[in-house]
Amino acid sequence: MMHSWLQPTWTRLVELGERLPHALLFVGPPGLGKRELAEALAARLLCDTPRADGHACGHCPACQWRLSGNHPDFYHVVPAADAAAAEGGEGEAAEGREAGGGKAKSEQIVIEQIRELQGALSVTGHHGSRRVVVLDPAEAMNVFTANALLKLLEEPPPGCVFLLVSSAPRRLLPTIRSRCQQWLFARPATEELAHWKAHADAGAQALLALGGGMPLAAERLALAGGEALLQRFVRDLGKLQAADALKLAGQWEAWLKSKEALAAGFGLPELVDWMLRWVSDLAALRLGGRVRFFPAQEGLLAALASRASVAAVSSCYNELAQIRRVARHPLNLRLVLEDLLLRYTRAVAGARG
Ligand SMILES: [Zn+2]
Repeated sequence: MMHSWLQPTWTRLVELGERLPHALLFVGPPGLGKRELAEALAARLLCDTPRADGHACGHCPACQWRLSGNHPDFYHVVPAADAAAAEGGEGEAAEGREAGGGKAKSEQIVIEQIRELQGALSVTGHHGSRRVVVLDPAEAMNVFTANALLKLLEEPPPGCVFLLVSSAPRRLLPTIRSRCQQWLFARPATEELAHWKAHADAGAQALLALGGGMPLAAERLALAGGEALLQRFVRDLGKLQAADALKLAGQWEAWLKSKEALAAGFGLPELVDWMLRWVSDLAALRLGGRVRFFPAQEGLLAALASRASVAAVSSCYNELAQIRRVARHPLNLRLVLEDLLLRYTRAVAGARG
């Protein structure tokens, strides 16, 4: 079933029918379902007998092929690191995240992938006349890769539709953007979110607040065990005393390397993001506002906020934001965690003396 906020876009796409352009670019914040919609559209385009609502039938030979992951005219162009993670190869995903391991999978779409695609598209399609390429995320292309793709977009092989997905369209070459018809995905309206919330479980709801209102991102994280991660995060910070900052850094280092964290894609950048939101809620309370990201912990946050000064909380926020900039490639995970927690406890947990 398609999420309600995607339905109007879907209807417009289906109504285009044969007038669908050969290159589309789905842009908007992450976690809204751009990828899901691209997949649904690809399925529709490849299906021999689409249903009345525009969706693929799921039963014809083309659908069977696609569902088994073997459709010869359906191409996914994604960074090698994402492909490894999607295959559920935990070991591989883990290697990809390990800094300096030498075996890390690329987070970019490399030019060899586009050359391979060019080769595959230069021969006639296998099943019917339609071929579909989903490229996600488009901003993972560097300038060479993008230029190679541009040639394909300028002279598209017959019957071929390109579906590009991007959460950071400003990082795309303007020539790529101008060759594609852009479809903007906006954050769902409040009533649509209310409908989603009514059907989501409590864990996903807590994660929704934390994710700033991106329902699919929350759902994905909930499915991957995000709720347990969130509970631990809150528990650890709630009882943290200044004297224990270094001890907790050691525990969090092991936590970030644990199977649960790796499986959920929860690394240092995500942890620092949660810390930033935690401190942002503290600051909001200190200034007489309401919590935004951790509504279930309002009482605990209020108690913590009462121990800290506005100046301490706001300089702590700025310091964490600095740490966030290096969090994707930390030279030393343990040192970063120690720095993070020392700064935090200096501002908050240590203030009781
Ligand atoms: Zn079908």
